[in-house]
Amino acid sequence: MTTPLTEVSPAPPARLLEVLRRPPGDVLMLGHVHPDGDVLGTLLGLGLGLQAAGWRVTFAGPHPVPDALAFLPGADRWQVWTRPPRTFEVIVLTDCPNDERTEGLLAGARAPASAVVNIDHHPDNRRYGSINWIDPRAAATGEMVFDLLGALGLAITPAMAINLFTAIHTDTGSFRYSNTTARTFRIAGELTALGAEPALVSDRLYQRRPVDALSTLGLVLGRVNVSGDGRVAWLSLPRDLASDAFVSAEDLVTYPRSIEGVKVALLVREEGDGVVKASLRGKGEIPVNRIAHRFGGGGHENAAGCTLRGSLEEATAALLAAVAEALDGNAP
Ligand code: 5GP
Ligand code: MN
Repeated sequence: MTTPLTEVSPAPPARLLEVLRRPPGDVLMLGHVHPDGDVLGTLLGLGLGLQAAGWRVTFAGPHPVPDALAFLPGADRWQVWTRPPRTFEVIVLTDCPNDERTEGLLAGARAPASAVVNIDHHPDNRRYGSINWIDPRAAATGEMVFDLLGALGLAITPAMAINLFTAIHTDTGSFRYSNTTARTFRIAGELTALGAEPALVSDRLYQRRPVDALSTLGLVLGRVNVSGDGRVAWLSLPRDLASDAFVSAEDLVTYPRSIEGVKVALLVREEGDGVVKASLRGKGEIPVNRIAHRFGGGGHENAAGCTLRGSLEEATAALLAAVAEALDGNAP
């Protein structure tokens, strides 16, 4: 028996549909810091759909599209802002758990009467929108936007399908993580029927390494550490060892995560100016977002992140201490 797609996920709220069914106007599709496949795929996928329905669509965020995602249809229209040029009557944010992650762009683009649509699958979403649609069971915000387009009766073009497929592909680790469900595959199947090309997306994401990336990767992987008890693996990365482009193209935390017996994996990277960014991954035993929350970050139970101040060594030591505490059951 086939389960209807709507059974697993709550439908888009009526107020959200009402706003996007209004006579088309002006809409800002607004991204968060360091945009990834899910945020870009959903903003571009939904934005291209709204544009076909007659909306004037602006795509923008605080950081540029990373090279590895420049193939996404519509990515050439992405604008990088330090300050919004004006306010917008409708602002859509996807995959963005809190408004601080727009680096002030939401505050600048929002007028008192603006409709701010917050569509996300992070359990710790702060519901900063005037309309909030949060579904932590969705593997990616891409699944939610797929449903939304259906509810709005907007046809999914191949360009939109590639965007949504990439959103789901990247957030599920190519359909390998525990968030991947039968529904994920059904949506991915429909998107493939509508023009997403899985081989093209995989090629663009994973088969376009610059020639020197493998030597950098060798250097970086030689720095993976594993705790004495084998439960924690981490990669502590000084700033000058690898470029930003390399780090954003390679999902480096997957390497310590791939070691047998590891329960928590960490990538700790020095970003410069005393700022250190950490990525945490779990395998179902420890909710790593609780550890990230202790450092002011957030995310999902098995994939979270945070930003710390201090040296790389200090940040790594603080994170490892928090992980050890969590593994020993002493976490808050
Ligand atoms: P990544 O490790 O790939 O950067 O992020 C994994 C997950 O953690 C994503 O869902 C992302 O939204 C969340 N995350 C990463 N860094 C931060 C952060 O500094 N603050 C918050 N609130 N969430 C983060
Ligand atoms: Mn996501």
